[in-house]
Amino acid sequence: MDLYEYQGKQLFARFGIPVSKGQLAETPEEARAAAEAIGGSVVVKAQVLTGGRGKAGGIKLATTPDEAEQHARAILGLDIRGHVVRRLWIESASDIAKEYYLSLTFDRGAKQPLFMFTTQGGVEIEEVAETNPDALVYLHVDPLEGFHPWQARRLVYGAGVTDPSEQKQIASIIGKLYETFVSCDAMLCEINPLIVTPDGEVRALDSKFTVDDNALYRHPDIAEMRDNEAADPLEALAREKNVTYVKLDGEVGVLGNGAGLSMSTVDVVTFAGGRPANFCDLGGGGDAQGVVDALSVITRDPQVRSIFFNIFGGITRCDEVARGILQALEQIEITAPIVVRLDGTNSEEGRRILVDAAPPGLHVEPTMLDAARRAVELAA
Ligand code: GDP
Ligand code: MN
Repeated sequence: MDLYEYQGKQLFARFGIPVSKGQLAETPEEARAAAEAIGGSVVVKAQVLTGGRGKAGGIKLATTPDEAEQHARAILGLDIRGHVVRRLWIESASDIAKEYYLSLTFDRGAKQPLFMFTTQGGVEIEEVAETNPDALVYLHVDPLEGFHPWQARRLVYGAGVTDPSEQKQIASIIGKLYETFVSCDAMLCEINPLIVTPDGEVRALDSKFTVDDNALYRHPDIAEMRDNEAADPLEALAREKNVTYVKLDGEVGVLGNGAGLSMSTVDVVTFAGGRPANFCDLGGGGDAQGVVDALSVITRDPQVRSIFFNIFGGITRCDEVARGILQALEQIEITAPIVVRLDGTNSEEGRRILVDAAPPGLHVEPTMLDAARRAVELAA
């Protein structure tokens, strides 16, 4: 789950990482009131779950509450890379002498958290990695040993920070970022820019924060930060129904049981010359209600022209899946043709149930490839 900048900063502040004072606003009037309450110059910042807001015109400096209101009016409703701005973060403006970059993420290859730090902040980190790779310092933390203060010093010296006060502040922030990352079950904590003010104060000016979805059950306060209105409506519906669903660009709706089979189904549709409309995993159970839920999610995508239902019965029983399909056809109106391939436990019985009922628009195919070809043909 990705957090908004202001939510990430709230968590940073909780662990002692310095951030600027600010307030949330959802209307131009609220932005004005926030600017008045904060006092002095403020920055009006679009809150969207994507980066590059500055370049897209989503971040503006205001010297008066009047100006803050005007900027808010311009930024609210703005479309930034497909994300419409509905919230603003009004923050006390900082004077910036230097912009650094600090992040902590998982290096899955090394199976360890990885720090990245550079004094070349403010720009996209990929750009630094490409144009100035030596400026980027990497450091892994062994999760069994935990974090040690010398690791922060290695990052700071390695990146060439020479001012002793800066070194001390950044080292402290690095330690606190590790604590934030571990305590929140984060998968990414990024500060870009980490600024140094003309007075030599170090502060997090931005945050990019991703929390592991599978750990949200033990962070109810973070789970509550989810903005359901911003989520893709279909993905939100799927989450509500406990269906694993990812929207893709094509026309063949894909439904499998188990992540591996669903993934192969996406592949075989592509192999047969079609384009999958989604990835949808029914999970291990595959009971009738699960089938109804999954089909009701898939069929709400107007791009779906045919549905490929690919089931391998292990624990899942194919006869039960077949009944689920018939039940779904009774409960929801499905106009797209459905191609079913059933194999494994009770597959013969499952196929017989479907063939006997013979609902219109339902095709039963013996193999995965035959079914994929049929589904692709029907989507054309
Ligand atoms: P992003 O574009 O989505 O990464 O948003 P950021 O929060 O990183 O802001 C982009 C840029 O706006 C920063 O790199 C700064 O240069 C500038 N900026 C943001 N806040 C302030 C501020 O308080 N004062 C000044 N002078 N510039 C700011
Ligand atoms: Mn940024």
